[in-house]
Amino acid sequence: MKTINDYDFKGKKALVRVDFNVPLDSLSRITDDTRVRAAIPTIQKVLSGGGAVILMSHLGRPKKGPEEASSLKHVRGRVEELLGLPVKFAADCIGVPAREAAAALQPGEVLLLENLRFHPEEEKGDEAFARELASLGDLWINDAFGTAHRAHASTAIIARFFPDDKLFGLLMMNEIASVDKVMLHPERPFTAIMGGSKVSSKINIIMNLLDKVDNLILGGGMVYTFMKARGGQVGASVCENDKLPLALDIMEAAGKKGVNLVLSHQTVASDGFNNEANTRIVDPMQIPDGWMGMDIGPATRDTFARVIEASRTILWNGPVGVFEFPRFAAGTRAVAESIARATANGAFSLIGGGDSVAAINQFGLEKQVSYVSTGGGALLEYIEGIELPGIAAIRG
Ligand code: AMP
Repeated sequence: MKTINDYDFKGKKALVRVDFNVPLDSLSRITDDTRVRAAIPTIQKVLSGGGAVILMSHLGRPKKGPEEASSLKHVRGRVEELLGLPVKFAADCIGVPAREAAAALQPGEVLLLENLRFHPEEEKGDEAFARELASLGDLWINDAFGTAHRAHASTAIIARFFPDDKLFGLLMMNEIASVDKVMLHPERPFTAIMGGSKVSSKINIIMNLLDKVDNLILGGGMVYTFMKARGGQVGASVCENDKLPLALDIMEAAGKKGVNLVLSHQTVASDGFNNEANTRIVDPMQIPDGWMGMDIGPATRDTFARVIEASRTILWNGPVGVFEFPRFAAGTRAVAESIARATANGAFSLIGGGDSVAAINQFGLEKQVSYVSTGGGALLEYIEGIELPGIAAIRG
């Protein structure tokens, strides 16, 4: 299989599927450019090899064709700043505007196509649409890890038109290498920390992790479903009553597989879901009526820290408390700090999934962990053990 590191780009036009799905404010300004930054190395690689780059991406969820708010022209300026080059823009990703702009493109130049999702054919994985996109370039590079779990026209179907000229971008290569390092070749002990609000959305991941990890730390809202399943009183905490049998299954499976399941044993509870509510430190098995578990308590922070800091491989997904409220962010901050300390001592740490990435950035610790994934849903599906269409399209 050819890789981006040995491909000869000289005189070639590379169609690069990137993930420029960035958050915009009401004035269409980018509020977080992480994804744009992440795509830059691949673009520079093609340009320095003597090629030209045609960038294609989606932005937002336009449902009824073109709309100003989701135009990729809002991202163009940031790409120019980061590359230090002018970027041409085609007002449609197919048809005459795209064909003319692509035909005129010279080596060393960059063209950004308008939002792929202005055409419903993109998400439908339409082959004729993929063929039109493919006709614009000589090769296809997939660097959009964030959409690798979707079999869309530009993320997977397009591969059919480039049987010998399809490559992973550098971001994709890093993402895949990081997840594989954790899931396929973990140095032990391997600890996964799962948080977030619901056990139902994490069940498949937890089950898959039970075959791999030495320690599974559970925090966040999902813990109360486990406490109730064990016969505890969880007050007004988030609790999925229909998932109590599932929680029991997970605990039993962990026991059978010899996984050390570490559940929060001390909770910061509040009498309201807000930052100003009264708080108490309680046993998560005995939360008073009207009170809800909002964060892990200091004793649980210490327990989690001991396990995390004795680990050689760490995977973290999901906050262990309602970290959006500063008063309930201490537990999530403590987890992030423990991971940073373990990393400083030589552990490999992978952080992924929207909220844990937001948390690690909020605490300013993103440079002190080994890898922060750009893929939310894609990362979670990959950890679940699902083959992602955007990866299979290149490997297959
Ligand atoms: P998820 O999308 O499932 O990863 O959940 C992330 C959300 O879980 C965040 O918005 C947190 O505020 C929330 N969360 C974490 N701990 C709790 C808790 N104890 N009670 C309610 N929500 C929580």
